[in-house]
Amino acid sequence: MKKTHMKVPFVDLRGQYFSVREEIETAIERVLNRGDYILGEAVHAFEEQFARYCGVDQCVGVDSGLSAIELILRAWDIGSGDEVITTANTFYSTVLPIVACGARPVLVEPDPATHTLDPGQLEAAITPRTRAVIVVHLYGHPADMDPINAIARRYGLKVIEDAAQAHGARYKHRVVGSLGDAAAFSFYPTKNLGAYGDAGAVATNDADLAERVRLLRNLGQRVRNVHELRGFNHRLDTIQAAILSVNLQRLDERNAARRRAVALYTKALAELPVEQPYVAPWAEHVYHLYVIRTDNRAWLQQQLAEAGVATAIHYPTPIHLQPAFADLGYRKGDFPVSERLAQQILSLPMYPGISEEAIRYVADVVRLASSEGKRPAMAGVRAE
Ligand SMILES: *Cc1c(COP(=O)(O)O)cnc(C)c1O
Repeated sequence: MKKTHMKVPFVDLRGQYFSVREEIETAIERVLNRGDYILGEAVHAFEEQFARYCGVDQCVGVDSGLSAIELILRAWDIGSGDEVITTANTFYSTVLPIVACGARPVLVEPDPATHTLDPGQLEAAITPRTRAVIVVHLYGHPADMDPINAIARRYGLKVIEDAAQAHGARYKHRVVGSLGDAAAFSFYPTKNLGAYGDAGAVATNDADLAERVRLLRNLGQRVRNVHELRGFNHRLDTIQAAILSVNLQRLDERNAARRRAVALYTKALAELPVEQPYVAPWAEHVYHLYVIRTDNRAWLQQQLAEAGVATAIHYPTPIHLQPAFADLGYRKGDFPVSERLAQQILSLPMYPGISEEAIRYVADVVRLASSEGKRPAMAGVRAE
């Protein structure tokens, strides 16, 4: 391999910070000067702004995406004896809250093209115990909501969007967060809308749900020292909320920058034996991650690493094979689509502001890796 070395990081959070540094510092200083550190003015301001962005009536800020999902489930009293359907190919934190509430996760396969919950698999997974479906807008590509909502309506199920990777993505021109009964967002620093620490939110048009989540995030109290519900401490931090308001104003332009990077990748990788991300005709993808597929993943990832290109796998182990969920009783082979995807996927560097030079370099390394004789040429894999 040619050794003209260039370091390409997987993400670059500092570049995004430097572009808004003064506004961020002013926003933090304002909180410090007011001294309202817990559920302060900036939390309410951000909640209003983010509700408006998602086209919903209510947003409740919480301390992580994980908490957002758990509080939605708990607000609906989903727990022991209940089942919640979601996909086998998602991040651990989609599923952990189901178990944390005492409910049982029931897994289904994704659509192999979009990597999101396959509506065709949903009905067969429903039992009299099913209460809710959690769809995941994985990598920034929305799930196929219309058929999922239609089936859920028919069986009286709640639909929760795990929108942790999809701030600003659209399904048939409607923004995610407004497409089910409730949505959970994460503002983990690397997400499309990120804080500078942990943070999350629930978005919904259901005022009763929002009210219960508001109580649950803050020790079950509406009025100080009157604890109506047992509750938790899952409040959104005020300084993080102030930071999020600044970053929210940049979300659309940063998503556009991600799409420009994708256009460059699409061209640079065009002739190469890797499968580029599929985008459904009804989807506006926001590319939280740029995930290609290849049958020679280990080889390609190693060649990229040696050339200075950081990559990642989202996610190497499907949910049903996670040791922590062994007691669910699933086996290897139960979800062949998820298992195959887990072996083929590779996330390439993706962040707003990634340079054209970096993308060309990544493509050059892929080209060299796939032409080198040491390994069989990578078979292009089709999304079937
Ligand atoms: C990041 C993420 C979460 C969890 O968010 P945290 O804020 O880290 O708790 C949940 N689901 C998906 C799909 C995610 O990517």
